[in-house]
Formats: sequence, C-alpha cells, structure tokens
Amino acid sequence: MSREQRSRNMSRIRSKNTRPEIDVRKYLFSRGYRYRVNYNITGKPDIVFPKKKIAIFIHGCFWHLHGCKYSTMPKTNKQFWENKLNRNKIRDKIVESRLDDEGWKIYTVWECELKEEREICLKKLENYIKNKNICYAH
Ligand SMILES: [Zn+2]
Repeated sequence: MSREQRSRNMSRIRSKNTRPEIDVRKYLFSRGYRYRVNYNITGKPDIVFPKKKIAIFIHGCFWHLHGCKYSTMPKTNKQFWENKLNRNKIRDKIVESRLDDEGWKIYTVWECELKEEREICLKKLENYIKNKNICYAH
C-alpha cells in the first residue's frame, strides 16, 4: 500500500467515526436522552423519539442538496449528479410530508451547522426536544 493510499484509507476511517449522525446521537445520549435508531417509520429518520413522535434527520449537505457551500455540484457527470441529487431532495420532501401526515414532528440537522457551529446546533436541537417534554435525564 502506498503512502498516499494509506492516508486516503485513514481519512476514510476517520470520517466514518465522526459521521454527523453518530456525533449527534452521542451528544444526546451523554445529555441523558434515550432515543431509537433504525426505527422503522417513513424515511427511516436517524434519531426517533417514538413516544413524543419526534423524528430527527441528520442530513449531509451534498446528498440532500442543501444549497450551502458544501453542496456543490460535481463538474464531471454533471447531468447524472443533478438528476440524482434533485431526486434526493424531492424524496426528502415526500418523506417530510408523509411523516407530517402521520403526526410526526420533524427536525433536520444539517451537516454544515454541525461543522461550523457545533455547540449552537446541538443546543438548538436539545432545546427543541426539551420543549417537547421528553427529557429523561434526572
Ligand atoms: Zn449545508
């Protein structure tokens, strides 16, 4: 394995460990919140509070076409990516409106907020959950 390959592998491992959804889950867990992951409802949200019907999505800016500086369109295969990412965005909208119909409250955390204002972003999320009265911390 060349040094370049090794460092590429390393960065891939590192980014896997700090995936945004893991980061958010760990934060909430450390603050005493108990939630469900892989909860089988529309759109498979990243974090679910079943009793209070809160569904939390942690969206990568690129894949969900956030429109911020992290969601730039690739220059090669432009048409392919435009179609793919636009489909993702449409699917997100469908999922959101279906969950809404099913009585779920939806909160979306964007990768860029987490990257750039981690503390504020996590506090905002926590306040949202807290205001829905599901703090299990003693
Ligand atoms: Zn973003």
